[in-house]
Amino acid sequence: MYTEKQISELGIKRNILLNPGPSTTTDTVKMAQVVPDICPREEEFAGMMKDLREDLVKIVHGDKDKHTSVLFCGSGTINIDICLNSLLPEGGKVLVVNNGAYSTRAVEICEYYGLPHIDLKFPLDEQPDLAVIEKTLKENPDIKLVHTTHNETGTGILNPIREIGALVHKYGAVFTVDTTSTLAMRPIDIEKDNIDFCMASAQKGLMAMTGLSFIIGNRAIIEKSKDYPKRSYYCNLYLQYDFFERTGEMHFTPPVQTIYATRQALDEYFKEGEEAKWARHTRVFEAIHKGLEELGFKDLIKRELQAGLVVSVIYPDDPNWSFKKIHDYCYERGFTIYPGKVSDTNTFRLCALGAIDEKDIEDFFVVLKEGLEANNIAVPVRYAK
Ligand SMILES: *Cc1c(COP(=O)(O)O)cnc(C)c1O
Repeated sequence: MYTEKQISELGIKRNILLNPGPSTTTDTVKMAQVVPDICPREEEFAGMMKDLREDLVKIVHGDKDKHTSVLFCGSGTINIDICLNSLLPEGGKVLVVNNGAYSTRAVEICEYYGLPHIDLKFPLDEQPDLAVIEKTLKENPDIKLVHTTHNETGTGILNPIREIGALVHKYGAVFTVDTTSTLAMRPIDIEKDNIDFCMASAQKGLMAMTGLSFIIGNRAIIEKSKDYPKRSYYCNLYLQYDFFERTGEMHFTPPVQTIYATRQALDEYFKEGEEAKWARHTRVFEAIHKGLEELGFKDLIKRELQAGLVVSVIYPDDPNWSFKKIHDYCYERGFTIYPGKVSDTNTFRLCALGAIDEKDIEDFFVVLKEGLEANNIAVPVRYAK
């Protein structure tokens, strides 16, 4: 391990990532990957994964007997795949509460596996209608699994998971929530939020590296799923859980260096603290809004519906506007902005993830303004209506 002083002397270039993950990391997390070579079948490594799994349960305030976490090697989408293919009993149907790109991804996973499912669509700039969800559950007693997304990263809208979860449980189904873009940022309480399974990958809220994803949830439900139809080998929740429980190891080769970085990131998470970290993300989010307002930009989602982490910005109506040119101008100066994920409106996104603070956003807006001016785009920006 390097000392903090040695690490700071390396002078690693600091890029400010305003894309929705991977996020800006601390140098101490980056350098935690540089370790002596180790075979991950050694006890030392298994011990580290055991602590890591328990710490993940703590982040969502789970009970260590009732809840567990299962690690996988892959990007965040692997979690959605695993939950849907592993947790649907024979004869059951999946309900996807869908108001955006990430829930649509869950629908596509159902299609790929041929899982019976209902794609319950809502407008992407509105929260899902609870009465419609309840009606659907009531009319379809074969719904055994309900999935939705906490913060729809495509737009930045926050979904009312606690209320949806209460309905799901009232009708006896299991509730899986894609919390990839909230976990370890916006506080989550797995029990109070009526979640059976939530998920994320190490590169987002935890501010670690890509390649490690995890599902946190109800142990008894995983054990029950042992007898459910097997639809995947590599991506089966019970198989991986059972292997961890028996051996302490991941079934197949884990992403070793990413796990070291995640260990360091967890230490930094607990040191910063849940509340202070959320306050910092909120400061960054407010600074993004302030900067956008000053330049005249409009955002897509009503402010009160935003999850506080992603802002979807509408392209101005200026003949000289070019997302690519603005992106490149900012990128060359160390700031990464990201395209939108909304099919009928042209948007780009600015996100409050990562090891960044208010000052970084102020610096970004200086560069953005320069970039607009350099490209002869009117400031404040203009909209036709
Ligand atoms: C980032 C993200 C994922 C995972 O996407 P990958 O492309 O697999 O990294 C899943 N769900 C949500 C809500 C996300 O924000």
